[in-house]
Amino acid sequence: MATLQPSSPRLSDRVAMITGASRGIGRSIALALATEGAKVVVNYASSSSAAEEVVAVITEAGGEAIALQADVSKLDQVEALVNQTLEKFSRIDVLVNNAGITRDTLLLRMKPEDWQAVIDLNLTGVFLCTRAVSKVMLKQKSGRMINIASVSGQMGNPGQANYSAAKAGVIGFTKTVAKELATRGITVNAVAPGFIETDMTHDLKSEEIIKYIPLGRYGKPEEVAGMVRFLAADEAAGYITGQVFNVDGGMVMA
Ligand code: NAP
Repeated sequence: MATLQPSSPRLSDRVAMITGASRGIGRSIALALATEGAKVVVNYASSSSAAEEVVAVITEAGGEAIALQADVSKLDQVEALVNQTLEKFSRIDVLVNNAGITRDTLLLRMKPEDWQAVIDLNLTGVFLCTRAVSKVMLKQKSGRMINIASVSGQMGNPGQANYSAAKAGVIGFTKTVAKELATRGITVNAVAPGFIETDMTHDLKSEEIIKYIPLGRYGKPEEVAGMVRFLAADEAAGYITGQVFNVDGGMVMA
């Protein structure tokens, strides 16, 4: 008779590179993947002590992690990030393109530099990391790529012309790259969070926003990380590619 086995770590010996993992959603993703046994690269832009704290939490729990500084909107820094990851861990099994910023303001007040900064990181950064890591995954003939998009890229949001354009771009990019890499054992999916409790949403007027969230509350970073953990593992995610998964309290219902 079959017995029910307790689940064991699902990402043992896999290497996960998470951009923008010093804070917020990226930090939760780093901890969730490490909990599944993954060796984790905690990328950050400037918060070195926060990134080292994430590494310390993982290593004190018996896991393996390294903090690597890189501005992922810059080609040379992305190449250095990937090379340093390979020097340390020799492979990359999971890429989470999570790093992102906002520069919110209404269209008529939006300066070209507000537009460009958001496009450079939130869209071009995803392209640069995906292209660099795809070379590694193609050699391995396996990999999981997970891009953090946003409901803003699906439904628009006043004040976020730059951000919603970048996130809609990430969704189109995800589908194209999923088709290009599907025959090589690499899956590419997007996660679209709604309003999640992080530094990014700290200054927003929450009573107004909550009216538009069917589940009536902000999400937690751990709830987005749970979806990423599912997409990084093998159970069902090996047969899922080119999809967008909303973790948004019901804001977008397809
Ligand atoms: P957050 O708390 O502001 O954290 C942003 C992270 O990105 C930090 O680790 C930051 O590193 C890193 N970062 C910023 N610029 C970078 C750069 N040039 N290169 C590398 N890393 C950089 O943001 P969050 O709320 O967790 O958001 C994470 C992702 O989820 C973003 O893509 C965001 O657009 C998306 N998202 C968030 C929400 C939400 O409600 N919070 C909703 C939908 C989508 P430092 O600490 O070094 O600055």
